[in-house]
Amino acid sequence: MDIRIGNGYDVHALAPDLPMWLGGIQIPSPTGFVAHSDGDVAIHALCDALLGCLALGDIGHLFPDTSDEWKGVDSKILLRKVMEIIAANGYRVGNVDITIALQKPKLAPHIAAMRATLAPLLGVSEDCVSVKATTTERLGFVGRCEGCEVWATALIIRK
Ligand code: MG
Repeated sequence: MDIRIGNGYDVHALAPDLPMWLGGIQIPSPTGFVAHSDGDVAIHALCDALLGCLALGDIGHLFPDTSDEWKGVDSKILLRKVMEIIAANGYRVGNVDITIALQKPKLAPHIAAMRATLAPLLGVSEDCVSVKATTTERLGFVGRCEGCEVWATALIIRK
């Protein structure tokens, strides 16, 4: 196949006084993500979407949260490793689309920086990196500010 598509999904819980890394950047916030890595739930969903394109499992399998090697790791490093796998299989990224559900803080001021950070890691221009954010109108665990939920879709093209 010359093009392949994949989807990814991830959730992380929020807790006070932790850094909030999201889409490769740090967001000013009184709460951040509970995680073995830096907790960048957007990059995690994106990595799973990319791996899903090639039916290669998920990042939990590649980078186990039981391993000290990945403790506190910058998720951009995980994304780089996933991109090495995509390239080694003879593919490049076409485009990606990410939807982040978070009640607060508002992400609109940070979307451009996320796209600018992710695009070079994916080897594409910023117009091929869509990042969208929504609240859940105060409904569910996202609405209660207990966590963040992210869906990602990736399309890859044979080089
Ligand atoms: Mg995760």
